[in-house]
Amino acid sequence: MEVVIIRLTPYREKDYIINALSKEEGIITFRAPGALNVKSKFAGKLFLYALVDIELRESKAGHTLTNVESLTNMAKVFTDPKRIIALNVVGEVISKTLKDDASITETFTLIKNTLHALSETSKLISLMYLFITNLLRILGSGLVIDRCVSCGDTKNIIGVAFNRGGLICKSCYDDKTTKLTGSDIQILRYGFMISEAELLRHEFSDNEALSLLNLMLMYLEFTYNIKIMSKDLIK
Ligand SMILES: [Zn+2]
Repeated sequence: MEVVIIRLTPYREKDYIINALSKEEGIITFRAPGALNVKSKFAGKLFLYALVDIELRESKAGHTLTNVESLTNMAKVFTDPKRIIALNVVGEVISKTLKDDASITETFTLIKNTLHALSETSKLISLMYLFITNLLRILGSGLVIDRCVSCGDTKNIIGVAFNRGGLICKSCYDDKTTKLTGSDIQILRYGFMISEAELLRHEFSDNEALSLLNLMLMYLEFTYNIKIMSKDLIK
């Protein structure tokens, strides 16, 4: 079963209790016996936000890990500060927005594709941005991007309003509207149009995507009433 590890808690002398996300069951908890021993066959494979393929044995005491294989190149991630930051942002967003099994099941493919892409691409700002727009879309919090959310006008779009949930035209502009450039509006539309299978189809430069990434992190914080601490690391 493919899972994404979201918490590792040391238990007894050498064990871990692990919480992970899975497509089939939502949140799953299992014990990894001896995992803290450096000679363990699990050593070097169990990390926070790692995508792994696991085999479990079931007993009255719960699930016990019997085998684990890494599905991404974590060595490549952990030797690159920019990838470490991106992994932390993705992980923190997942931990703070996915609160029930249904939302985990719905977003699992997106999370998996994002973690794969994280060790493949160097356009990490673009990846984080498209991860967040896709997450918002799948969770039903996508922005209205094909017209002014207030009056329906498809022309004269000049900004976005979080409180109204979409793009805003010139006549509906008010002090809660964030003004956007023409290119920002295009990138915002693209972010909500593509699917989780298309994260690397078109990649934006850091310069293009950075302000949109910050905007979408603000929208995420606004929508879920959360604070994403790791966003301060993004440059
Ligand atoms: Zn309008």
